[in-house]
Amino acid sequence: VKARAKKSTVRLAGYSRSKRRFRIGYIFAALLFLAIILWNVATPNPRWIEENYSRGFYQTITSILVPITNSVPFSISAILVILIPVLCFIWTVISFRRHHFLRWLWRTILLAGSLYAVFTFNWGVNYQRESIETQLDLPTDTFAETELQTLVTTLSEIIQNNVDAERDVARAQTSLRTSLIETVETITGVTPTLPTWVKVLPPGTLIRAGNASGMISPFTLEPHIDGALSEVYSLPVGTHELAHIAGYAREADTDFVAALAGLNTNDTYARYATALKLWNDAVAQLPALERAEAVAALPQRARDDLAATYEPFLRYQLPAWIQNVQSSLYNRYLTSQGVEAGIQDYSRTTTLLLAAQRNGLF
Ligand SMILES: [Zn+2]
Repeated sequence: VKARAKKSTVRLAGYSRSKRRFRIGYIFAALLFLAIILWNVATPNPRWIEENYSRGFYQTITSILVPITNSVPFSISAILVILIPVLCFIWTVISFRRHHFLRWLWRTILLAGSLYAVFTFNWGVNYQRESIETQLDLPTDTFAETELQTLVTTLSEIIQNNVDAERDVARAQTSLRTSLIETVETITGVTPTLPTWVKVLPPGTLIRAGNASGMISPFTLEPHIDGALSEVYSLPVGTHELAHIAGYAREADTDFVAALAGLNTNDTYARYATALKLWNDAVAQLPALERAEAVAALPQRARDDLAATYEPFLRYQLPAWIQNVQSSLYNRYLTSQGVEAGIQDYSRTTTLLLAAQRNGLF
């Protein structure tokens, strides 16, 4: 009797251990999907997200993750982008053989759900924070064409005054980063944890991948730029990517925060590079004749710098139909994150600058 009792205890222990593992898996899955559904059904209001996530929890994440991913000179996310599909393929082949189809499907859904949850809570929630107009109490009405002309003139003056500045790229990067930290501090009262600067990917990588100049990884919080960018253009793009890491997700808001940082830096080369990029965005909104006049009035060296900005995009551009697929996918992504304007959100930067000009922010 004694021996038989012992045997059944052992069997029971083994049975309950596998049952416990089984239960933990289901509890994890239930909590994960509950969190995702709850988040999408009852997204908190922007004010709540601003105070508790963007200025709170997200800052804690960056203070831990950024020093780690910034400590290596290469891109961890680039390695993961190559490695993960390979591992997923191997895992699919192995688990598909070993398990029933339904269990394999279930685990795949679980993996995709986990990735989505990490993306959202590690960075993506920032899409739902307060708009920069609300944060800075900027006017949202329409602007007169004279205001646009004033903006173009102001930017032209910065370009003319600084086009022959000494071009020390390392000093410009440091000053842009410092100015960005100060800008975010002024707006939010929070000191962001930023990487030293961006990581540079092989020339053409991002341009070919989606006609992009820079990109951050929401998982590792690493900012990247394409290695083909001209030195002058790499400065405002680098600042833009750093602003994403500071917790700005929407393109116009990010671009605007980076612009304020660049216009308020005391490094002349950084100011020049920022003004040239913003000037180029702003003149696109002018009527054709005035645009031509503005271009003609630009110093020759600035016109050369603009040509150098476009050159890599021409060199690495993909056939038009691929670019169309890419931009429609990206547009769908932006719309899914609540950015109603999609890619159009980029041209909002000039409107935001007009508002900032009226409020004397630079
Ligand atoms: Zn961006």
